[in-house]
Amino acid sequence: MRYSKLFSKTSKTVPHDADSANAKFLVQGGFIHQEAAGVYSYLPLGLKVLRNIEQIIREEMEEVGGQEISMSVLHPKQNWVTTDRWDSMDVLFRLKGAGDKEYALGPTHEEIVTPLVRDYVFSYKDLPTAVFQIQTKFRNEPRARSGVLRGREFSMKDLYSFHVSQEDLDRYYDEVKASYFKIFERLGFDPKVTYITYASGGAFSKYSHEYQILSDVGEDHVYACEKCRVAVNREILDDQNTCPECGNKDLTEKKGIEVGNIFKLGTKFSDSFKFKCTDKQGKMQPVIMGCYGIGPSRIMGSLVEIFSDENGIMWPKSVTPYQVHMIGLGNDENVTKEAEKLYNDLKKAGITVLFDDRDERAGAKFKDADLIGIPLRLVVSSRTLEKGGVEWKERNKSDAKEVKLGEVLAKVKEFYS
Ligand code: ATP
Ligand code: MG
Repeated sequence: MRYSKLFSKTSKTVPHDADSANAKFLVQGGFIHQEAAGVYSYLPLGLKVLRNIEQIIREEMEEVGGQEISMSVLHPKQNWVTTDRWDSMDVLFRLKGAGDKEYALGPTHEEIVTPLVRDYVFSYKDLPTAVFQIQTKFRNEPRARSGVLRGREFSMKDLYSFHVSQEDLDRYYDEVKASYFKIFERLGFDPKVTYITYASGGAFSKYSHEYQILSDVGEDHVYACEKCRVAVNREILDDQNTCPECGNKDLTEKKGIEVGNIFKLGTKFSDSFKFKCTDKQGKMQPVIMGCYGIGPSRIMGSLVEIFSDENGIMWPKSVTPYQVHMIGLGNDENVTKEAEKLYNDLKKAGITVLFDDRDERAGAKFKDADLIGIPLRLVVSSRTLEKGGVEWKERNKSDAKEVKLGEVLAKVKEFYS
């Protein structure tokens, strides 16, 4: 991609309501565009990052047997009345359609998935089964804050599983629990900042589990056992004030961003929708459910909170919008020729490149590269060519080095292997 052709350019103006690194850098870097408080459009660079995050999650959900579907965003009112949540869910967006028919805009999908799967599952032989989607959710949050961390419209991956027995749910729950750790590691989060957190579980289990990324912009207060890398959410501290795994009483208060949440629903929703199936003895039994959420847009914001410095973002390799940020400097014919050649060679080898081919000062181009945060910057100038190569600079390192033109491709491949 030629930066000169990219319509969403960087901006020097700090958004007036930027209360966090992600709110500032994602807007200034041209990743997202704010439409209203907590409502953002995704621009080409931002959409690439979001899609990379979603793809990692998708792969791991398929690995645990999840089947991808896409459920309706408009939910008939009746489904929410059936579960008694039409009036009680305060963040529900309610709206009227033709003929005064009422709908909700999906904030979560138990009300759709339960009757949907009920139409296809009749006996224990059809179970277990699990479906997921990655879709925009709507919640009328009283206070949108911290850029994409708490939006009124945001991306969520929601997986729902269906079982004949509690033991089977417990087994699958542990499988998904492990899969989530793999996801956060692949996304670039250091396991040192990813804490599984015990939170309230509702009627069917003592606990649910949240995945908290420790960060001062986080809204959640968690009490961490640094030995087990496990935490307890403040909401259950009265009942659980020691480490649930080792009994340690010495918990440290930290702030966290909840990026994922897994929950045993039991028969809460299958009871409401009378979703039963026959067991091995031919007896009708309520189906037992689990739900497992992750927020890709909140993850995108969390990555910026964790991986940024005063100059901008430092994307992990796994989600970066492009692999190489290439800069050509000066109008020298030879520089243009070599830069164009390198750009084409990299592309041909399957490397994604953002090529800053603008007629701009070096300082401005470097500043933009730091703001955008691609892990690797390559500079071609008459000075680097005199030395026979390009300047190689990694976003999270302070020093640069020279790499010979003939070796660049292999080195880039190695960097991303
Ligand atoms: P919170 O406690 O932060 O309000 P929640 O517990 O209501 O979130 P879930 O219903 O479990 O969230 O949603 C699953 C995931 O969706 C969350 O773990 C989070 O990553 C993401 N998410 C939830 N609400 C928002 C939001 N308003 N903006 C962005 N992401 C969100
Ligand atoms: Mg929560």
